Amino acid sequence: MDCIFCKIIAGEIPSTKVYEDERVLAFRDIAPMAPTHILVIPKEHIPSFAYINEENAPLVAHILAVAAKIAREEGLEEGGYRIVSNCGDDAGQTVKHLHFHILGGRKLTLEMA
Ligand code: AMP
Repeated sequence: MDCIFCKIIAGEIPSTKVYEDERVLAFRDIAPMAPTHILVIPKEHIPSFAYINEENAPLVAHILAVAAKIAREEGLEEGGYRIVSNCGDDAGQTVKHLHFHILGGRKLTLEMA
């Protein structure tokens, strides 16, 4: 499949891994928009947030629990942080593989992704 994130999961494209288990991978964004900018993705190819359903919801819950753990370990809890999932063209989704951005380490404006 021609998906950048599937290639990262397969090890065909390098990434700076932050966390990995059998269902989830987290790595640093290649173009960080904040001092801490990490992407958390399912290893299973889910095209976007719009494809979340009752069947894969437990996986999504696991992704979110992992995101909270990473934010804690990155020292973001005290200052706060943002979780973002861009869905579709109007939201500016550029990679069609479900991902949650963890953004923190500075004051975030409402405009920023
Ligand atoms: P979105 O625009 O919400 O679809 O987010 C996609 C994100 O993936 C962007 O923030 C990109 O900077 C990031 N990205 C694209 N390619 C890579 C890569 N090879 N390694 C790490 N992050 C990437």
